[in-house]
Amino acid sequence: MKEFNASRWARPAIRDLVPYSSARDEFSGEDYIFLDANESPFPSGLNRYPDPYQGELKKAIAGVKDCRVEQLFLGNGSDEAIDLLMRCFCEPGRERVLSIEPSYGMYRVCAGINGLAFDTVLLNRDFSLDADALLAAATKDTKLIFICSPNNPTGNIMQEEAVIQVLDNFPGIVVIDEAYQDFAPGPGFKSLLANHQNLVILQTFSKAWGLAGARLGMAIADPGIISYLNKVKYPYNINRLSQDSVIKAIQNKDDVISHIELIKEERDFMANALKAMPDVQEVFPSQANFLLVKIENPRRVYKGLIDKGVVVRDRSSMPLCEGCLRITIGTPEENRKMLDGLRALKKGAD
Ligand code: PMP
Repeated sequence: MKEFNASRWARPAIRDLVPYSSARDEFSGEDYIFLDANESPFPSGLNRYPDPYQGELKKAIAGVKDCRVEQLFLGNGSDEAIDLLMRCFCEPGRERVLSIEPSYGMYRVCAGINGLAFDTVLLNRDFSLDADALLAAATKDTKLIFICSPNNPTGNIMQEEAVIQVLDNFPGIVVIDEAYQDFAPGPGFKSLLANHQNLVILQTFSKAWGLAGARLGMAIADPGIISYLNKVKYPYNINRLSQDSVIKAIQNKDDVISHIELIKEERDFMANALKAMPDVQEVFPSQANFLLVKIENPRRVYKGLIDKGVVVRDRSSMPLCEGCLRITIGTPEENRKMLDGLRALKKGAD
């Protein structure tokens, strides 16, 4: 068991902070006359503040994620959890965040917003994790390490031995961002929570669950870490509409499962179809809902596709992704239109 004392790792200002106590923190219940929160008494469906700790929603999520309610923090997207982890544990102007590269851009942006130095370690050429290099890059001021698996934009999952090596040897918090885990085989790294108190798993309802517009992401971790995120979050950070829409999605989870299956089938179909295209140099294996594709003249292809009404992401300026576009898997019809667009571009160029 790797033990971790979140209070010793937290910024002193946050450790000592007395959090805001909302009206709904101090009293909740039903069938009362609520004159405590300066709300409107006229029913609109939204005239009352939502549950600040999202009790009903967390119970539903704990059921599908196979974790305890006390292990859950819910945020306005997992982006909120990324930001709050930095705000809770890293001292602005002095401390550092470490991440793999290439990876999700918000780690760097959040570090910048919080006045933190941001260090990166390149993945190996096959996009696998170099645990020795990552550990060697951690200084005494490094408070958080971000690993993304399946990684955005490369699509691969990281090796378990390497992840465990980092968890076992880094004295601080290791965040594994599993935004795309629902598309990957196997359960991901959640089971490591049982014996690593310094692990934070990030997941989201924005991808496989089809609720990017509801903005609901989560951190799953030891309650010692979760209590700090709850301490600094805005009192009512998840609005009523989002809470309701996620509860509804969980009740209809069979729809989500069939969508995931379809996306995975289409991912295989698209990978094969793209590999057969003359300008495509490589389609990297993906366990996510997108493909990283190395293609001749990516900028020209990117712009040409836009002219045909298809938008993909140009990742060619990212390290190790030279010449690459990232293509999200859409509906079967959208995917075929994208392939037609590519073929038409090729014909136009010949
Ligand atoms: N992590 C990764 C790896 C992502 O790619 C994204 C969004 N593209 C997020 C987190 C943020 O997701 P959310 O919508 O939950 O804020």
